[in-house]
Amino acid sequence: MYELTEEQQAIVETTREIAQKKLKPLREHYDKTEEYPWAIVEELRKADLFGVYFPTEYGGLGGGAFELCLVIEELSKVCAGTALVIAGTALGAYPIMLHGNDAQKKKYLPDLASGKRLGAFTITEPEAGSDATATKATAVLDGDHYVLNGTKVYCTNGNAAEIYTLFFSTAPARGARGISAFIVEKGTPGFEFGRKEEKMGIRASPTYQLLFNNCRVPKENLLGLPGGGLLVAQATFDVSRPGVASQALGIAQGAMDEAFAYARSRRQFGQPVISFQAMQHKLANMAMDIEAARCLLYTVARAIDKGGKKRYTKESAMVKCFCSDVAMRVSVEAVQMCGGIGYMRDFPVEKYMRDAKITQIYEGTNEIQRNEIAMMMIKEAAREGKK
Ligand SMILES: Cc1cc2nc3c(=O)[nH]c(=O)nc-3n(C[C@H](O)[C@H](O)[C@H](O)COP(=O)(O)OP(=O)(O)OC[C@H]3O[C@@H](n4cnc5c(N)ncnc54)[C@H](O)[C@@H]3O)c2cc1C
Repeated sequence: MYELTEEQQAIVETTREIAQKKLKPLREHYDKTEEYPWAIVEELRKADLFGVYFPTEYGGLGGGAFELCLVIEELSKVCAGTALVIAGTALGAYPIMLHGNDAQKKKYLPDLASGKRLGAFTITEPEAGSDATATKATAVLDGDHYVLNGTKVYCTNGNAAEIYTLFFSTAPARGARGISAFIVEKGTPGFEFGRKEEKMGIRASPTYQLLFNNCRVPKENLLGLPGGGLLVAQATFDVSRPGVASQALGIAQGAMDEAFAYARSRRQFGQPVISFQAMQHKLANMAMDIEAARCLLYTVARAIDKGGKKRYTKESAMVKCFCSDVAMRVSVEAVQMCGGIGYMRDFPVEKYMRDAKITQIYEGTNEIQRNEIAMMMIKEAAREGKK
């Protein structure tokens, strides 16, 4: 139905094989222990799956946002936390791909494309969440270096990453126009990890505070223009939010598959519980939600790759918001469909519900996505001179 090319089909099958054969037996362990899924990282590296969306000149497979979404969806059907090894790296890599100069691309993209080094991206601070313009961390030019100070929070891929795209104010008096993007490498003196967060879901993915104390980075590590940080961030979200959507879609599909299988085998009143119309309607609603989400996601990801428009802010916000709302609805219904066992930690369905929640929160909450969608519509109407 979605007319994947042979190469895209091969990407799906390779990822599915790793997800089902290698990840599935380990997902409960990762969820319970919060151990980083290095064994799966190794499998993904061997299969070249980190590189599906990178240009071939940097060692990638030459695909785009769509191929990345296919990988994230397949991994998230099994464990959305583990999918973040690739999705979190993409969030760190896209700013370099979109706004890096030649030297930065040559230095960092090959390692990110091979998965040799993982990436991360953090703009969030204790006082700057939805409102990134409130960024307090500073970068002050001192000779050939910028000196970084401040605290970033909620960094996905936490201490597992080695290449970080981060945002600091280079001109606090200029507010939003004073924020700049930087590439910072793990191990740079003055860059340390603070608290590791204890989370409801995606527990295979470490979420860390990042602490900067007179951390000196070469001035070549400025990404894009001074004061252009929020443009870098927004351009990144335009292409990365479909990644969150594909994570959400995978969660929804995984939750429905598990609940459906259970409802076919579980017998009450002398019959499988799926024979009750109430359960059938839940199943039908889940399936409709999931297919609608997939149609929107694949259409938007393909449009981004085709690149007919300058920006896809509205579409990427729509797909992130829609798919994550679907993931939440479907995973809650999946738990309900399984009854008591659906609530138990040793049965896989409750994990989908815990994992689904974050997709409505990160890379901009769904309230912020709705604000952006409406704002873009209002701007478009004004541009088109609509009455
Ligand atoms: C597990 C996890 C991983 C994360 N990973 C990363 C990462 O890798 N990199 C990174 O930079 N950040 C990351 N984040 C941060 C995440 O993007 C933010 O938490 C999110 O953007 C919301 O910011 P906040 O938590 O400060 O909430 P707040 O901004 O304080 O929002 C609180 C509530 O107010 C609502 N609200 C705020 N402003 C408005 C408004 N204008 N209109 C309507 N409602 C509004 C919000 O929608 C929300 O419901 C992560 C967060 C979590 C929990």
